[in-house]
Amino acid sequence: MRRALVTGAGGFIAHHLVKRLKREGYWVRGVDIKSPEYSPTQADDFQIFDLRDMEQCRKALSDPQGFDEVFNLAADMGGMGFIHSAECDIMRHNALINSNMTAGAAEKKIKRYFFSSSACVYRDMKPGAPELKEEDAYPALPDNEYGWEKLYAERMALAFGRKHGMVIRIARFQNCYGPEGTWHGGREKAPAAICRKVAEAENGGAIEIWGDGTAVRSYTYVDDMVDGIYRLMQSQVEGPANIGNPEYLTVSDLVDIVAEIAKKKIKKKFVDGPVGVLSRNFSNEKIYRTGWQAQFKLKNGIAITYPWIEEQVKKLRSR
Ligand code: NAD
Repeated sequence: MRRALVTGAGGFIAHHLVKRLKREGYWVRGVDIKSPEYSPTQADDFQIFDLRDMEQCRKALSDPQGFDEVFNLAADMGGMGFIHSAECDIMRHNALINSNMTAGAAEKKIKRYFFSSSACVYRDMKPGAPELKEEDAYPALPDNEYGWEKLYAERMALAFGRKHGMVIRIARFQNCYGPEGTWHGGREKAPAAICRKVAEAENGGAIEIWGDGTAVRSYTYVDDMVDGIYRLMQSQVEGPANIGNPEYLTVSDLVDIVAEIAKKKIKKKFVDGPVGVLSRNFSNEKIYRTGWQAQFKLKNGIAITYPWIEEQVKKLRSR
C-alpha cells in the first residue's frame, strides 16, 4: 500500500485529493492548521500542525513506515481581494511553509514531492494573445506577490530535488472551483463569490462584480484538478506543468452561466475592485502527455457547485 502525506488537507483541493488517493488505495495522512469545514476527512490519520514551524513540519513528515509521496497544498491563500490585502502574510507564511516542507521532505528522503503552484506565476496577457507555455513564465513578471512566492517555491523544490535525488512534480493551477471550497469570508475566489451573490439575490435583482466583466479566465472543476495532480505525480513529466480547463470565458460569461443554472435574471453592476490580470491563455501540452483531459465544462461544474453554495447561504440565513 502506498503511503501519502497531504498538506492543506483541511482546505478545498487537498480535501478532495485525499478522497481520490483513498480511492486509489493509498494510506493517507492529512495535515492542516484546521479540520475540513464541510465534511469529515477521509484521511486515515489527520493531524493539526502549523507548517510555518520546522519542528511541527518534521512531526508531520514523521511516521514509522514513512511516506512514499508528499503532496504539499498548504498555503495561506484566497481570491484576488485577499491576495491584494494580505500580501505580507502571503509572502511570509507561504515561504515558511514551502521552505520547511521542501527541506523536511528531503531530510526524510521522500522519493516523490508534489508542489501546488499557480497560474499567478505568469505575467499579464492581452485578450487573444497566443497561449503561454510553462517556460514563458521567464523572464518573470507575476502580477502579484502570491505569484512571486510561488515561483520562488517552485525553484526551491527543484533545487532540493536536484541535490537530494527527490522527484519533484509541480502543477500550476488555474482557478479551481467546486463544492466545499471557500465561498464567503473574504478568501473566496470569483466562481464561489458569484455563486454566493446570485444565491443571495432576488430573481431580477443586481449583483456587484469587480471590474468591467471583460477579464478572461479559465475555471477548472475540482475533480478535474485532482485528476491532474494525481496523473502528474505518477508521470515522468519534469518541471512545472499547467493544469487548467481549456475553456476560456469572461467574468461576465461566468455570471451568465451561474444565473442560468440558478434560473434567475441577474443585473450586473460593475464596481471598482481588485480584478487581477486582464487575460489568461495557457498551453496544456505537458499535462495532456499524462492522458489528462478536463471532463467538466464550466456549465456542468457550476451545475454541481451552485446548489451546494445555495444550500450554504440558506443554512447561514437560518442560523
Ligand atoms: P485552501 O485555502 O482551501 O487550502 C489551503 C489549506 O492550507 C487551508 O486549509 C489552510 O488552513 C492550510 N494552511 C494554511 N496555512 C497553514 C499552515 N501554516 N500550516 C498548515 N496548513 C496551513 O486553498 P485551496 O484552494 O485548496 O488551494 C490549495 C493549493 O492550491 C494552495 O497551494 C494554493 O495556493 C494552490 N492554488 C489554488 C488555486 C485555486 O483556484 N483554488 C489556484 C492556484 C493555486
